[in-house]
Amino acid sequence: MTDIQIHIDSKTYPTAASPTIADLKLSLNSNEFICLVGPSGCGKTTLLNIIAGLDNDYDGEILVGQQHTHPKIGYIFQNPRLLPWRTVRENIELALDGNQSPDVIDELLVAMQLTASQHSYPERLSLGMSRRVAIIRAFAVDPEVLLMDEPFVSLDAPTARQVRGLLLKLWQQRPHTVLFVTHDLREAIALADRLIFLSAAPMQVVSEIVVPIARNERDNELAIESFRQQLLANHPEIKQLL
Ligand code: ADP
Ligand code: MG
Repeated sequence: MTDIQIHIDSKTYPTAASPTIADLKLSLNSNEFICLVGPSGCGKTTLLNIIAGLDNDYDGEILVGQQHTHPKIGYIFQNPRLLPWRTVRENIELALDGNQSPDVIDELLVAMQLTASQHSYPERLSLGMSRRVAIIRAFAVDPEVLLMDEPFVSLDAPTARQVRGLLLKLWQQRPHTVLFVTHDLREAIALADRLIFLSAAPMQVVSEIVVPIARNERDNELAIESFRQQLLANHPEIKQLL
């Protein structure tokens, strides 16, 4: 795995009067879990689409190691976007280029506790299960960076917590570089090695904060809440971004 450097000089939508992103620099360390936190409409989805190569209308550069290129990505959207006429397993297989062994899918199904549902169609799945399929599909391609755009926003709190726990366990088994967008500071603290706070448009980095909580303490709500309070007290600039 290689480090990824992102420098977006500017991104302006043709219909917009001013730039959505200006002089944004991000440096992603290999296998680091980064949470991006910023106000609604600040440009987070725009940034992920640029990194993914879905939006090439910007000034800037992306470096994967020494190469000017886009990283190989796995993208998890807010809506899991499963094909309704394909089973869980077929939805996962469709994301693959045919080189992966079926064992990888089996292992991922076990990790996400979906083995028994692998031949079900998406309409039979709960919201939490659909999110878990989307996570498998993204990990299965073994991406250089996993992009996750508010993937748990529509889940109730206990389900979101369960899926977060499964995600972290899988990520520890199969380390990957992750860029995870969320509005929820507690969720960000529970997941991230590093938090990156982003400003309203033009989007720029306001603060970068390393989360010092041990990995085996990430489901300890008291530890999360205590760090959240400390963060808000020590970094008043963050409050207006939440
Ligand atoms: P976020 O994901 O942080 O909520 P977005 O990246 O979706 O923000 O949007 C950032 C800004 O760009 C918003 O003002 C939004 O209205 C605008 N925007 C997003 N997509 C388009 C588009 N395709 N055309 C024009 N403006 C857009
Ligand atoms: Mg968005």
